[in-house]
Amino acid sequence: MKIGILSTSKNLYSTRRLVEAIGQRGHEGQVINHKRCYMNIASHKPSVHYNGQALTGFDAIIPRIGASVTFYGTAVVRQFEMMGVYSVNESVAITRSRDKLRAFQLLSRKGIGLPVTGFANAPGDTDDLLNLVEGTPVVIKLLEGTQGVGVVLAETRKAAESVIEAFRGLSANFLVQEFIKEAGGSDIRCLVIGEKVVAAMKRQAKEGEFRSNLHRGGTAELVKLTPEERSTAVRAARIMGLNVAGVDLLRSNHGPVVLEVNSSPGLEGIEAATGKDVASTIIEFIEKNAKHGKTRTRGSG
Ligand code: ADP
Repeated sequence: MKIGILSTSKNLYSTRRLVEAIGQRGHEGQVINHKRCYMNIASHKPSVHYNGQALTGFDAIIPRIGASVTFYGTAVVRQFEMMGVYSVNESVAITRSRDKLRAFQLLSRKGIGLPVTGFANAPGDTDDLLNLVEGTPVVIKLLEGTQGVGVVLAETRKAAESVIEAFRGLSANFLVQEFIKEAGGSDIRCLVIGEKVVAAMKRQAKEGEFRSNLHRGGTAELVKLTPEERSTAVRAARIMGLNVAGVDLLRSNHGPVVLEVNSSPGLEGIEAATGKDVASTIIEFIEKNAKHGKTRTRGSG
């Protein structure tokens, strides 16, 4: 098969591992920088161009679209879908999961456990917003944040009011969320491929920190999931429509709650912590599922 990896750099760990796995399984791989693709969207024969050439003959693509280029990156994925090329994660599913508000609403509609969460678009009524999530302590998050940046724990009402006021002053969109204290500064990353959790790790925040992001000095180790955690992760990925997803869970007193469903999960931390060859599992999934024109939505909807 000829498989394209949409990625901004060949040197990223996940990209390198995917290229390696594609080669090991006897396929041809090409890294395509989606930021440098261009296309004629009005043509009857949709195409994607790169470095002066039309990209042809691809059986599948693996989108690895960073949060900052979601808009353009998903347009490139959609164009491939219009050409009938199978995308392991479809453009519609990527867009769905990137919009935190929409993702939470979809998950909650299907009964997935979530931390009690209030969304607000620069609200005038901070007091009521805090009541909505059952008071402090609360976690306040910028919607645009990643890797724990813009995620603040406010232990008192005064602190929460100040943070909300500051975010409001910057016209930033944010959410206010119940603080799951019992998680003890750890979260669980489940790597879902198809209908299975193929690897899972527990990330633990460093001393004195509640955010377990590895970028913030957290550590990771292999974890055994409960059947409920396993099924929550698989269902969350399915609801988003993602075949490959990193589902982040917190262990709360009321069962597993989903923090986020990531459409381009990093492979470095999870492969190191679990010793699993996640990259090859993704390629095996593509071998079984990629068919020309099989893209469910062909980029519509
Ligand atoms: P990002 O997407 O920027 O990583 P997250 O929402 O995943 O932001 O939050 C970063 C980390 O903070 C999580 O991995 C988790 O350890 C911690 N955290 C986030 N929300 C909560 C919460 N409601 N209760 C307890 N811990 C939380």
